[in-house]
Amino acid sequence: MAVKSKPFEFLGAQVAPGHRQQFELPVGQLYTQTDVSIPVEVVHGRSKGPRLLICAAIHGDELNGVEIVRRVLHAPWLKNLKGTLVAVPIVNVLGTIHRSRYLPDRRDLNRSFPGSEKGSLAARMAHLFTTRILQQADYAIDLHTGAIDRSNLPQIRVHLDNQKAAELAHMFGVPVIIDAEIRDGSFRGAGDDLGVPIITYEAGEALRFDENSIAAGVRGVRRVMEELGMIKMRVKGRAQATPVVARSSQWVRAPVGGFLRVLKPLGSRVNKGDLLGYLNGPLDSQGEPILSPCSGIVIGRSNLPLAHEGEAIFHIARFNQVDLAEQVVETFHSDMEDHISRSEAPIT
Ligand SMILES: [Zn+2]
Repeated sequence: MAVKSKPFEFLGAQVAPGHRQQFELPVGQLYTQTDVSIPVEVVHGRSKGPRLLICAAIHGDELNGVEIVRRVLHAPWLKNLKGTLVAVPIVNVLGTIHRSRYLPDRRDLNRSFPGSEKGSLAARMAHLFTTRILQQADYAIDLHTGAIDRSNLPQIRVHLDNQKAAELAHMFGVPVIIDAEIRDGSFRGAGDDLGVPIITYEAGEALRFDENSIAAGVRGVRRVMEELGMIKMRVKGRAQATPVVARSSQWVRAPVGGFLRVLKPLGSRVNKGDLLGYLNGPLDSQGEPILSPCSGIVIGRSNLPLAHEGEAIFHIARFNQVDLAEQVVETFHSDMEDHISRSEAPIT
């Protein structure tokens, strides 16, 4: 028998069991003194269960997560929820308004945690988000994308020493897990301090909606909620591919400046010495080849056909069993194609 939940105390209000409520968390004003706030929705189940936070756009221009959160909130499987979902589609609202990764004070919110009440704009926002939202959660999923003009293969970043976070990473079920140390001032670091395991989902490119990344993100959140017992487990039609943990990863940088012709899409298996692309001058017949320095899978790449010498062009993850990683990525891609072809209105 499920245990009935109590009202959920949140931002000075009480959400009754079986109800959902939208909130606006005030974070200051525009120059016009128009109030700015972070939109939040709480879905509180009738039965007791874990409290999961999903949040996006801590980097204001990383938008796939905004759509992931919206789809999760309106998903039919959210019915009969056990526990509580706290959904924050846009954390860095000021950044999003300016179409920027950063806050207007040019600080990175994801390097400003846990923040302080009387500090900079970034520190104040980080403090507010930590104390009013993160502290209410048992688990959190933080949704990101690559930078402008750079796409990431759907992947989870997590510090695997944190066992609970490592379990969440495997539950999410995208093909690649990157073991990433906690950076100073990061949201994941704030989670560590509070004992809230956080995983970071990275997929697609800043300022773009990418259906594959969005659909995989929604599915990942659903899987985590299934595994945490918050929603009913779907009947498993086929075996789900287990994610593979990368041994390390490496950026391949432009050996010279020039126009970039990329030959390897995201998710490609590459071997050491493989041709990844060319950098040429506008009058060249072929240009300078870019060779892979290692074997692995392409998990990030530039989409801009222009590069200065030294610019990061490909991100390659190395694996102990690269054949297995290749197989998992292939299964993921065919699963997602199938999944998207069955969905109602995929973004193209
Ligand atoms: Zn980010």
